Formats: sequence, structure tokens, C-alpha cells
Amino acid sequence: MKEILFMEPVFKSMIWGGVRLRTEFDYELPSDHTGECWAISAHPNGDCIIKNGPYKGKSLSWLWENNRHLFGNRSEQSFPLLIKIIDAKQDLSIQVHPDDVYANLSKPGALGKTECWYILDCDQDAEIIIGHSAKDKDELRSMIEKERWLELIRSRPIKKGDFFQIRPGTVHAIKAGTLLLETQQNSDITYRLYDYDRLDKGKPRQLHIKESIDVINCPHEDAPIGVNTIKHDSSEIKELIKDKYYTVQKIKVYGELNINQNKDFMNISVIEGEGEIDSTKLSKGDHFILPYEYGMFRLKGEMSLIVSFIDN
Ligand code: ZN
Repeated sequence: MKEILFMEPVFKSMIWGGVRLRTEFDYELPSDHTGECWAISAHPNGDCIIKNGPYKGKSLSWLWENNRHLFGNRSEQSFPLLIKIIDAKQDLSIQVHPDDVYANLSKPGALGKTECWYILDCDQDAEIIIGHSAKDKDELRSMIEKERWLELIRSRPIKKGDFFQIRPGTVHAIKAGTLLLETQQNSDITYRLYDYDRLDKGKPRQLHIKESIDVINCPHEDAPIGVNTIKHDSSEIKELIKDKYYTVQKIKVYGELNINQNKDFMNISVIEGEGEIDSTKLSKGDHFILPYEYGMFRLKGEMSLIVSFIDN
């Protein structure tokens, strides 16, 4: 089908959110502490509506249920990926996600979560938390019991354009002053390890210490991310990660670029600039899916895109 499926994003107010989704992307926000834009999502907690064409007004989950051919008749129970833009005005809690096996044991049918982050923008001294310093589970348990958080947690500086892959079992947190695009498995199982002893409506938020210790990988190892760039005249396609759950690319268009959509489906987000796809106008903040057998498409203009698809 030669029809682009444009998404109507869903917004989430969060105690740690801000207004950059309005100031940077011109979205209409529900509050001045909006933390997340669910840009391409069929999750029941935020199911995007199709904005155009014959499926206008239908949700992405409805489309997955009733028109699976648009997604190459894939066999997953629900649309397998979830694309978010996150505006962290304050620190998020420190967390970890299970893998598919542990998730399924704790909740039959549930999936684990692998996610990755592309840093759209950040404060000059911004940091992110990935990993920890414990050499094995015993040391991890003991450091948690003794609340030696600062020694345990591993922070690192970040800058615009950085990319991180967060595998299941990786301790991680987004910190204040970070705007990023997240590509993740469509799953929502999160174990909160530490929340800086903050109070939410007078009470600390629930922690999941036992589950966290169960799933945290010891010792921590960074996920490899071999960045592979292909040049096309003045445009370029950068492969940020190729994983069994997703392949993510950053495409920079200068002038014209022709690409073949030969995957089951392809998610695309415009993160900078403007232009067009096959004569349809595009601008920063647009998110869409190119369905199965879309074939060759032409990008034109000056813009940056984040693209994701599944390569198996
Ligand atoms: Zn996470």
C-alpha cells in the first residue's frame, strides 16, 4: 500500500516533565510538566490515532488487529515497538527492566524491555545513568542494603547526538536537562531501584528491590553500538544499532535521497528541519509509519530523521 500513516501523538504529564515538547516541537501540551510524547504507539496506555488517509480516526492497535497485512502479517500479539520523545526537566527514578524470560515468569505473556536513546538536546553539563559498580550479586545486594547509592550508580556526561542501547538488566536513568528520542520494545515492565528518597504527594514512590536484584546484570557491561555510516551525495544514513528487537538509523537529508522501504514496516520521526516525502510535506515533530510493500520513497529538503524497523 502506498499510503503514509501519520500518527497523532499522545502526551503524558509527569512530575519530572517540562515544556520543551511545546517550545521545541510546537505540540499542544496537557500541562507545564509534560514528560513524554508517545509518538508511535499502540500501547493501551497511549494508543496513537491515524491522522490521514483511509484509516483516519482509527487507532494503531486497531490497525494492527484488523489490517495486519500493513505490517507484513507479523505474528506479534501487539505492535512490537514504541517510539517516545522524553523531556526530563528533573531526574527520573533509577530503574531496570527484565528480559523476556523473567517478564513472562512474573506475568505470563509479558515481554521484557530493550530500549535505546538518541539524545536530541541536553544541558551543557547533563549526565545520564547507565550501569553500576558492583562486581557480583552479593556486592550489589550489600551496596543496596547499605544505601551506598552514589558509589553504586554510574553516571556519565552526555551531549547532543549521543546514542545509548539499554539492554534488559541494565541499571539506567535519564537525568535533568535531557531531551531524547526513545525506541523500545512495546512493554511497560519497570522495576524502580532508587528514587533519590523523593516524596510524591507526601509518600515515597514504590521501589522493587527484590525484582531489581533478580534482573540486574553483574558486573555491568555496556552494550556494543557499532555506528555504521553510508553516504549518499550530501545526505547520510547512520546505523545506530542493529539488534534482534530493532534496527535504528539516523538519516540526514540534504537535497534528495531515495530509499527502499522493503521491511515489514518502517517507523519514521522528523527530529529536525523540514522537507517532504513523495511530495507530502514534513516538518519537525511529524511521526509516521511506511507500511509493508511501500517500496521506493523520495525524501527532499533539509531534515534529520530517526528510523526504526525490525530486521527479522
Ligand atoms: Zn527504561
